[in-house]
Amino acid sequence: MSFDNLNDKQQEAVRQLDGPLLILAGAGSGKTSTMTHRIAHMIEEGIPAWNILAVTFTNKAAAEMRERVESLIGDTQDMWILTFHAMCLRMLHIYADRIGYDSNFVIYDTSDQKTLVKNIEKEQGISDREFKPQYILSVISRCKEKEMGPEEYRRSALEGPREKAVYAVYKEYESRLRENNAMDFDDLLLNCLRLLESETDVLEKYQNRFRFIMVDEYQDTNHIQYRLISLLAAKHHNLCVVGDDDQCIYQWRGADISNILDFEKDFPDAKVIKLEQNYRSVGNILAAAHSVIRHNTSRKQKELWTTREDGEKINYYRADNDREEADYVARQIGYMNRSGRSLNDFAILYRTNAQSRLFEEALSRHGIPYQVLSGMRYYDRKEIKDIMAYMRLIVNPADDLSLTRVINEPKRGVGPKSLDKLAAFARVRGQSIFEALIDPDGEMLDTLPGRSYDKVKEMVTVMKECREQRSDMSVSDIYDALLVRTGYLKSLEDEKSVEAESRIENLMEFKTVIAEYEKSAEDPTVEEFMAQLTLAAEVDNMDDSQTQVTMMTMHSAKGLEFPVVFIPGLEDGLFPGSRAFDDDDQMEEERRLCYVGMTRAKELLFLTSAEVRTRYGRTDYTRESQFLREVDKKLLTGSAVYQRRGQRSSLGVSSGSRDGFAKEPAYKPFDALKYAKQQTRKAAAGGDTDLNQGDRVKHGKFGEGLVISVTDSIVTVAFDTAGIKKLAKGIAPLKKL
Ligand code: ATP
Ligand code: MG
Repeated sequence: MSFDNLNDKQQEAVRQLDGPLLILAGAGSGKTSTMTHRIAHMIEEGIPAWNILAVTFTNKAAAEMRERVESLIGDTQDMWILTFHAMCLRMLHIYADRIGYDSNFVIYDTSDQKTLVKNIEKEQGISDREFKPQYILSVISRCKEKEMGPEEYRRSALEGPREKAVYAVYKEYESRLRENNAMDFDDLLLNCLRLLESETDVLEKYQNRFRFIMVDEYQDTNHIQYRLISLLAAKHHNLCVVGDDDQCIYQWRGADISNILDFEKDFPDAKVIKLEQNYRSVGNILAAAHSVIRHNTSRKQKELWTTREDGEKINYYRADNDREEADYVARQIGYMNRSGRSLNDFAILYRTNAQSRLFEEALSRHGIPYQVLSGMRYYDRKEIKDIMAYMRLIVNPADDLSLTRVINEPKRGVGPKSLDKLAAFARVRGQSIFEALIDPDGEMLDTLPGRSYDKVKEMVTVMKECREQRSDMSVSDIYDALLVRTGYLKSLEDEKSVEAESRIENLMEFKTVIAEYEKSAEDPTVEEFMAQLTLAAEVDNMDDSQTQVTMMTMHSAKGLEFPVVFIPGLEDGLFPGSRAFDDDDQMEEERRLCYVGMTRAKELLFLTSAEVRTRYGRTDYTRESQFLREVDKKLLTGSAVYQRRGQRSSLGVSSGSRDGFAKEPAYKPFDALKYAKQQTRKAAAGGDTDLNQGDRVKHGKFGEGLVISVTDSIVTVAFDTAGIKKLAKGIAPLKKL
């Protein structure tokens, strides 16, 4: 194979197969392309495909890499090209029993985790308002990334009420996962590491197998991922890592930038190749991205160059408000589309998922098809979660969480009380609820009242049958059986609502997912399907079938490229987020994210902001983003096609009248989220209680008035305009004036 289309440095990296190799280079310099060519070269050199392991971060990146390798060499069957999580899953499926799990363990995704934490909080009398499940889960995840169990957490943490709550939940959470033969996403990595560390023969097997290992986006590996790779590569040392310290955007999730900066320390004989030519973006885009990232102090100095033309300047538009901003973007896209650009060329990359709604609305108004890439969207739908819970139970009867989810879905008259009873009964017998239900002795069913007995029995019978016969049934047969015979589908049909209609459509669409799986798998089983699905549901899955605009967060855009990119919401407090103003590390991470976002663009880059924005229900004036101020002003233009006479930008882009920025005074943007939380708490706390006859008061809805009488629980107020009202004391939002 000739690699003439690669530059000298790239070719050098492709040919350097033995020993540790670090490819350190900026965005769009062909790191990923070099990696795929390197794999092709290996095959050409006669290295067996099954000796090769290539790891990336998202399903999309893995699929793309496999495709690219296939286009170079054809078949890639025996090659492991996958995400970290998928790699661990594969190993654990074979060896779970070595570390005390059943091989048919299930994976809990984000919303399962939340449910579990909520349940635990309820049982332990911990308020899920005060200690949000999401918060607790983020602490647990941080702990797991550092291999810190509940006890270690307790020893290391402070002893405030918050830490006590986290500890209590964490401890119970871990034992519940165990009981349910389940792992969360962090466990996949952690348990795989434990497996390789404790079982020498397993480690040796994989070390011998994977003689050549490659990791893309290495800058975003966390501690556990780093250890996994080090272990696997320890024997042959043929490890090639590829990355860009300027693109490390997952520190908040434990990614450790030092993994890339220290690679040369870990492997003193490592060869380092730097790629400096950017092939992706036109000159102005590259220059603009640099003018931002160079403000970061902790980075390896490097500058990319391109032989491409300068291209258009970067478009900047300051809209009146956030709705108008979205409308502007939609109009620009519509205009360029009519002038001949495919809708697939466009990406809108925002900082937070919440920003997508306005763009979805604006694009719909303009009749422009789009897709939102947020991974959870489809799989987070209730009906899909329900049916997945049914399927999981078939695989793993120990999964009480799934049983709890579906036992009364559709309604079978099993309320929380009956469920508690069932749970207690099962506990006494040392079984999970579902195990107890399908137990041939059947006593458990008898504890149910008549009206639910029949329905639950019917459900249990179907599930039991599916479970027993699962190796003889196809995954789609199992799916159909469950959907129909559990009564789930019928109950939706009976509802006869538009919403139920669309749920049914989604359930039908799910059959496509199953069909695709059955086509691609060697030996399709419901176990494998469920495991794959749980992984797939968490991350991006791009649908390329129709031409449409793509929207996603800048985080999920890593490694991707688009001819035209819009980055909206360039306002202090949104991007960079308000917390960055207290914390230099955070500011640098946000800046790297900005660099990632800008370098996704090949030909055109649009930046926008809104003068007035509504967030968390509150409308405020905004200030243009620090990052905008950092972009070399020569590279900006305000002359976008639909730009009005926009004089509002303090950047002076449109008018061209200002020629520099005065040093800005220290500035702290308004923290809208914090404010919204305070308001919520205030509202939840109700009104004043020490009210007396004759007090002037103000009510949120009725306005001002005079208290005419007060009892233990009732306040009677004569409102100036709303008349006399009797209100609940302490609950009604009454404030003394
Ligand atoms: P990122 O940092 O964003 O992940 P990357 O370094 O992995 O980027 P690639 O995605 O591999 O970069 O390549 C960027 C673009 O440049 C792709 O469109 C690729 O096809 C093209 N490219 C890479 N190398 C060359 C080359 N030698 N000649 C022409 N085009 C190239
Ligand atoms: Mg890449």
